[in-house]
Amino acid sequence: MKKNLYIVRCGEVALKGMNKPYFERVLLERVRKSLEVYDEVEAAWIDGLMFVRVPADIDEDEVISRCVRVFGVASVSPAVEVPKDINEIGRKAGEFMNAILKAEDIKTFKVRAKRADKNFPIESPEIARQVGGMVLKASKVLGVDVHRPDCTLNVDVRKEAAYIYRDKVKGFGGLPLGTNGKGMILMSGGIDSPVAAFMMAKRGMSIEAVHFHSYPYTSQRAQEKVEDLVKVLAGYMGTVRMHVINLLPIQEEIVKNCPEDETTLLVRRFMMRIAEKVAEKNKCMMLITGEDLGQVASQTAEALVVTDNVVSMPVMRPLIAMDKVDIMEKAREIGTYEISIQPYEDCCTVFLPKHPVTKPKLPRIEKSESALDVDALVKAAVESEEIVVIAP
Ligand code: ATP
Ligand code: MG
Repeated sequence: MKKNLYIVRCGEVALKGMNKPYFERVLLERVRKSLEVYDEVEAAWIDGLMFVRVPADIDEDEVISRCVRVFGVASVSPAVEVPKDINEIGRKAGEFMNAILKAEDIKTFKVRAKRADKNFPIESPEIARQVGGMVLKASKVLGVDVHRPDCTLNVDVRKEAAYIYRDKVKGFGGLPLGTNGKGMILMSGGIDSPVAAFMMAKRGMSIEAVHFHSYPYTSQRAQEKVEDLVKVLAGYMGTVRMHVINLLPIQEEIVKNCPEDETTLLVRRFMMRIAEKVAEKNKCMMLITGEDLGQVASQTAEALVVTDNVVSMPVMRPLIAMDKVDIMEKAREIGTYEISIQPYEDCCTVFLPKHPVTKPKLPRIEKSESALDVDALVKAAVESEEIVVIAP
């Protein structure tokens, strides 16, 4: 069967010392998994690069789009393999360029050569010169421009063979999923939490999600929006389990028994307690939120201290020091933004106080909470969970 070749480069994985074989093995598994929808894919590491071969009838853009979503991948290039003979390389480079010319209006090019195999008798600048000459002859319409070419052809001469490629499509970098424990994201339908989940997963952390709703104050459609967001995330991190919990009974207790301006903060403390319990039950080591310093009343420094106080598990807030515009840009880049801006209500907005406290004091908050049977409310909420499994 004819197959097309893709060269996959890793970023930080290459910098690992003793653990490099482990990271390489996981990354290889992740790339294989991302391509398991196709039959007869081959993938292997050869001297620091991953060579992936996919049946030739599979769309190139689709293969690339799958590969660049694998965390740990720095870039991907569709490539052709040639025997290590300068005339063969030149001939193939000419063909490669003529194929490009059919689709694009290119006037100038250059060849960049790299000789990883120092036993190859021709040095890199000379490889570039000779191959460039052969491409010129094959294409006729092209000129060489070494400074600002429309197109650069790369020729890598390695131990096993030589490779010709043009583009490097950038991946997201990071570390292979599953190399850094598991975290529980508190997932709303907003812009921030999907980005927070993405950023932690990019550093290798497996992700489960917990989502709170206030049905029937919040709609079924609002929950579907969150599921749509998680589905986009699943495109990067594989199937995600989401724990769905109705917070309404707790919110009603708070509204009935506690000061109005503290409502949001008290609700957030319950969210954290419940999330921690669900996280423990599911072997997550950390909680993750999309909080961002100062963005809203519940995210002032004082509020975050009061929120954190109810849990002992570390709380990761990867967006804490980002500006909202940058978070929005990231959301667009990963494909969650358009879903996040759909106007559905969140449980946090259901009983929104007119003037929320922005500088809460812990003793006062604890006093307000003493009107509630916190443990029983948390226990009931945890027991009421429903689990939704969301595949890419
Ligand atoms: P986002 O854009 O992520 O909704 P936000 O700016 O709207 O964030 P808040 O509503 O204060 O801020 O929420 C802060 C964080 O609390 C969210 O990033 C998320 O991690 C968590 N959170 C908020 N609402 C929910 C919810 N309904 N279910 C689970 N977690 C939530
Ligand atoms: Mg929100």
